[in-house]
Amino acid sequence: MPLEFLKRRGADSESPAKPAPAAAPVGLPEEVVAQEFQLKLHYAGKSTEGVRMRAGPRALAELPQMLIGYAEGDVEVVDPLPLEFAQAMPQIAHPSEAMQWVQAHQDLSPVTRHALVVLESIDAVDLAFDTFACALLDGETDTSGYPEYNAVVGGVASHWDEATGDMIVRAVVGWGGRGVRGDTDRIAQKLLAGILGNVLGSQHAIGLTAVDRPVPAAGRGGLVCAHCGFSSGHERAFYCPKCGMRLLRG
Ligand SMILES: [Zn+2]
Repeated sequence: MPLEFLKRRGADSESPAKPAPAAAPVGLPEEVVAQEFQLKLHYAGKSTEGVRMRAGPRALAELPQMLIGYAEGDVEVVDPLPLEFAQAMPQIAHPSEAMQWVQAHQDLSPVTRHALVVLESIDAVDLAFDTFACALLDGETDTSGYPEYNAVVGGVASHWDEATGDMIVRAVVGWGGRGVRGDTDRIAQKLLAGILGNVLGSQHAIGLTAVDRPVPAAGRGGLVCAHCGFSSGHERAFYCPKCGMRLLRG
């Protein structure tokens, strides 16, 4: 065995590659020809002020109804993400964050996943504390069910006001992809106004309010809800992001 090994090595070293012909020095051309590549992604969205709801956690069940007249297809409700998905981000170059994101959202419809990619990328929705009711609102989907770049998606997002425990609901719409069309912004604005009308029409609505978004705590684990078991990555002062009940500090 050792002999075979040596022999092979010897055989290799006895047949060296032919010496390369001496290359003439190549000067840099006066003009370098470059082949150009680019991808323009355009994501956009709009969000209204919040509408304060004095209904407590019961009002969560009514979120899908606020899309009546505007949803083209099913309304899907996305809950805030629990602690194990606290780092989830729709950015493929960050594998750990991307895997969390895919695991958290793999069972959602293509419309909702597209909406989350757009709205999370532009920071219009934050699932650390938002509950998001989402549908296709305008435009077409491709044969796989994913919205075209000019399709408008979205609906309403809600979170719990830390000061009062009221539910704050806002209309949120978004669109985007590999293209832009001039009239999408106008269509989105109309949809946003229509959905806000629905929210204000709710029996629980008590008026518009500035949206004061909760601030997620960096790196610390949050609290576990005694009511629904939800474990939040977000150090909330009082209210469970998922069910809206008061969190008990242990
Ligand atoms: Zn809860």
